[in-house]
Amino acid sequence: MSRADVRGRRYPVASSREYPEPRNPEHLEASSPENPDARSREYPVRVVYLGGLGRSGSTLLERLLGELPGVCASGEIVHLWQRGVAENERCGCGLEFRACDFWGRVGKEAFGGWDKIDTDRIGHLKDAVDRTRLIPRLSQRTLARRLRADLDAYSGYYLRLYRAIASVSGCDTIVDSSKHASLAFCLSRCQEIDLRVIHMVRDSRAVAYSWTTKVARPEAGTAGPASYMTTYPPVRAAGHWNAQNGALQLLARRGTPLLLVRYEDLIQEPEQTVRRAATFAGVPAGHLSLPFLHTEGGASYAELTEAHTASGNPMRFATGRVPIKGDDRWRGAMPGRQRRTVTALTLPLLSRYGYLRRAA
Ligand SMILES: [Zn+2]
Repeated sequence: MSRADVRGRRYPVASSREYPEPRNPEHLEASSPENPDARSREYPVRVVYLGGLGRSGSTLLERLLGELPGVCASGEIVHLWQRGVAENERCGCGLEFRACDFWGRVGKEAFGGWDKIDTDRIGHLKDAVDRTRLIPRLSQRTLARRLRADLDAYSGYYLRLYRAIASVSGCDTIVDSSKHASLAFCLSRCQEIDLRVIHMVRDSRAVAYSWTTKVARPEAGTAGPASYMTTYPPVRAAGHWNAQNGALQLLARRGTPLLLVRYEDLIQEPEQTVRRAATFAGVPAGHLSLPFLHTEGGASYAELTEAHTASGNPMRFATGRVPIKGDDRWRGAMPGRQRRTVTALTLPLLSRYGYLRRAA
């Protein structure tokens, strides 16, 4: 299959007729969103889940993986239900969620239309199962009956959605950059999902500094409290950094395939890192050309095409030539006291990930 063929199927924006037909549309009417029928278990859907604390470069890696043949970058699915379906925020293609033909077709195939699902119900299920504080329970071999029922219902929505994304995009591999470790635990218990987690880590000092900076959210549209990404004081960011990274290590110990990718390595060696991630994702990239990656005068950049990402960092809207360069502002701008505090609070994992071996 030529790359052009693949690209045509992955970015079907010109005409709805370019979309492939659903693989087995007849089964979709037969079951509720929370109970995918037996036929849907015939083949697992492959999901590459980008996990880690936000501001660790997951959007960049997702966009790069999305340029590979057969891979669909779908954004932070955890926020799709509220920000996309309920609040109609913009897709990565620039259109409002309900105006985007791609997501319109996905919603129709997954649920018979987005108006058929109750986003409040999904929100309640999320509160019941997809919480960081529930990870110790989610990691147990057996679950309480009520938790198991809510978990099955919750992951059922994701399963149907992932299958529909695969069908509409024509891609075998779905990238979900939701990041939260708790959702990865939920999905890991769904046998119909072939879950592979790419654990993104970045120096805790850089992450904590980034969480103190104000970043606009262009998809939110009008000015207001939702127009900026959340900020955290450094101590709180350090706590989240420990919790998310520690939880993902636990997930790996529980048997979920997991690949550790450092943001700094992605920046310094983008081609090698993308190949490593692609191979882990089941996309044989060893001999694959990566025509979207370039180096010029020692600087790396990517040529990115449009992606229908449901939610995420504003970088998801970038297309064309996008520089791949690190953000080291924290080294000069982060107050020394904050830096020492974050270093102390995150010391064990900073050491484990090799950040103390470098000049800091
Ligand atoms: Zn779109």
